[in-house]
Amino acid sequence: MNSELFQRVDNYIADLLGSEDMVLKETIESLDIAGLPQQSVSANQGKFLQVLMIACNAKKVLELGTLGGYSTIWIARALPENGKMVTIEVDRNHGDVAQKNIEKAGLSDKVELRIGSALDILPNIIAENDEPYDMIFVDADKPPYAEYFIYALQLSRPGTLIVFDNVIREGKVLDSNSNDEKVKGVQRLNKMLSENKNVTATILQTVGTKEHDGIAIAVVNRI
Ligand code: SAM
Repeated sequence: MNSELFQRVDNYIADLLGSEDMVLKETIESLDIAGLPQQSVSANQGKFLQVLMIACNAKKVLELGTLGGYSTIWIARALPENGKMVTIEVDRNHGDVAQKNIEKAGLSDKVELRIGSALDILPNIIAENDEPYDMIFVDADKPPYAEYFIYALQLSRPGTLIVFDNVIREGKVLDSNSNDEKVKGVQRLNKMLSENKNVTATILQTVGTKEHDGIAIAVVNRI
């Protein structure tokens, strides 16, 4: 694979359509400073999430997997004035870094960060019986991706977009004998997306500044 070319094209797209301001650049820097992994979405993927949000007129968004808040900032910036976002992060240290970055971005009034495991917090959110979410972005641990999908459906309405990052894993998803729990997790999700009659779904392969991977997008069907 010509990864150098993919990177140059990603940079070309980012320069045109997905440029980062100082807040986003400093958010990426803050990960190194705090010793967090560089696992944020790319700038173009952040912009892609914004495009999806505007297409579905998203006012309420749920994110699983905050890390330092990079994707959170892209998403929250595309919310309307009265928009709200909940983001769930299991690691308190990651959450502290994210909270500072969200504050620096001036988005604290729109973003609620909940610390804990998504599998523990999602049933609580469902029990709150609040308005459904317009978009749900799943970017946490991969083994329970299928469980996250089942919870996401319970927090959705017809038209809700459910987006999953990292579902191709450099093509390892093709290995049906894989013992890698992350690969097995996304394989289960991808199969579930193909079989579930409540959603219309597809997967886009992604290349660029990140390794070869894929983003699954499911829209909840009209009843
Ligand atoms: N969405 C972030 C971004 O693009 O800026 C990147 C998220 S990073 C790929 C995955 C994050 O999910 C990590 O911060 C990790 O601590 C968190 N995570 C892992 N397992 C989790 C769980 N069970 N519940 C919630 N968050 C989890």
